[in-house]
Amino acid sequence: MSQQDQKFKNLVAHCKEYGFIYQSSEVYDGLAAVYDYGPNGVLLKNNIKSYWWKSMVQMQENIVGIDSAIFMHPKTWKASGHVDAFNDPLIDNKDSKKRYRADQLVEGYCEKIQKKIDKEVTKAQKRFGDDFDKDQYLSTNPRVVKYQEDIDGIMKRMADAMTADNMVALKELIEELGIADPENGSKNWTDVRQFNLMFNTQLGNISGEEGKLYLRPETAQGIFVNFLNVQKTTRQKLPFGIAQIGKAFRNEIVARQFIFRMREFEQMEMQFFIKPGTQKDWYDYWKKTRLEWHKGLHDAEKLRYHDHDNLAHYADAAVDIEFQFPFGFRELEGIHSRTDFDLSAHQEVSGRKIQYFDPKSNESYVPYVVETSIGLDRMFLATMATALQTEMVPGQDDPNNTREVLKLHPALAPIKCAILPLKKNDERIVALAKSVFNKLRGSIQCMYDDTGSIGKLYRRQDAIGTPYCLTIDFDSLEDNCVTVRDRDSLVQERVSIDELKAKILPSVDMGNLLEGK
Ligand code: ATP
Repeated sequence: MSQQDQKFKNLVAHCKEYGFIYQSSEVYDGLAAVYDYGPNGVLLKNNIKSYWWKSMVQMQENIVGIDSAIFMHPKTWKASGHVDAFNDPLIDNKDSKKRYRADQLVEGYCEKIQKKIDKEVTKAQKRFGDDFDKDQYLSTNPRVVKYQEDIDGIMKRMADAMTADNMVALKELIEELGIADPENGSKNWTDVRQFNLMFNTQLGNISGEEGKLYLRPETAQGIFVNFLNVQKTTRQKLPFGIAQIGKAFRNEIVARQFIFRMREFEQMEMQFFIKPGTQKDWYDYWKKTRLEWHKGLHDAEKLRYHDHDNLAHYADAAVDIEFQFPFGFRELEGIHSRTDFDLSAHQEVSGRKIQYFDPKSNESYVPYVVETSIGLDRMFLATMATALQTEMVPGQDDPNNTREVLKLHPALAPIKCAILPLKKNDERIVALAKSVFNKLRGSIQCMYDDTGSIGKLYRRQDAIGTPYCLTIDFDSLEDNCVTVRDRDSLVQERVSIDELKAKILPSVDMGNLLEGK
């Protein structure tokens, strides 16, 4: 197993062991690609939501929030194009009976070529040492240039086939490249066909097609159909945005990689309504703004842009912000210039005028839209991947003395402060520890824990990312102070119980993260 695979395995195991994420319906052997958040998971997830919401709504003058229903009138999805075009290309292997996404098989093939390029680069780096110029090498080494041309050619053919909805061409590409089933090596493929990703269900009081409802595959449509309601009730002037966080559902053909690709997940989306003609500027603005936001939590080299080759039916420009997950760079957030596609489509299908009267130019028009859309669960996974570290215990020279610590920003940490009585059977210590707990818990997310030795308790708090551990000991009974241990430095200091709130609250405040501290 590669080091990266091992790291990912550890991360998944850590999420379960410390109550972050469980497989859904585990007692029935689980339901594929559906997960439940445990006690620490839900706290972290709520903090991530709050960070996004505060950045996108509270800190913005012209963005407001809504919370629209998951069920929407079925015509919504006809108008939005999802009934006809929200498809992935499906292919079955006749021997293994396994189902794949045809585009992912082709991407997997290209990833293998990319690995050959990476290998050549590593070799050359060793050979040339400090003199190595990677960009020059990539553009001049004949073997590497050829590999890159192969990738570009294949990806272009795939994008053309997908854009033209030409599934025959996609199948031909798979056959020409000799792509085999990763499970058993068979090349005995069915034709490629489009598979709609929307789940559907039925209204109780209407039978047949009329009563067919969809579980929303994106939260965006709830924003579009409420555009006029929100604009009129908040008297917003263009440009302005509407944000929302909510569940979305997609019947993914292949759902792997833990919470990266789920069938039920949460999105945090913002639709920014603008004057037609200004979309390029706003697209660039949000592209840059969102990348900067991610840099607040992750190193810049773990983030990159990836322009879409194959634009969705509603977009005139689209870029992904990719994060380096333990299994490689993958999409974390999408920024899409959605033109006036959605509002115009709802205007046409509903027969209602969905337009904005511009008081400056004295004209009415359908606004254009730039969307930012991020998966909350992917953000959770990225946050955990960055935070989980195995490090030498600070202050000790022994390289074998390591600890697992979740270095979350204190504002995101599920528990801010753990109250640990040094003796659980000393009544006076327990009473004091409980009184500290009761004093803090109204304003700080605290945990009281007396279920092990102090060493074990510290280790458990490190593993869930608790920034402060407070120990109550015999001295506390005399001096009314507790020992405060800092998660990262392990420095311990005595702090008066009366001053605890004033010490802890400012450092776990979300404002720090919002202000880049
Ligand atoms: P992908 O190419 O990975 O399937 P997408 O381009 O279909 O993603 P969008 O439709 O742009 O995704 O959705 C916006 C965001 O929602 C994505 O950037 C991602 O963070 C999240 N997302 C999409 N599908 C899933 C899923 N199945 N599970 C978890 N998050 C998802």
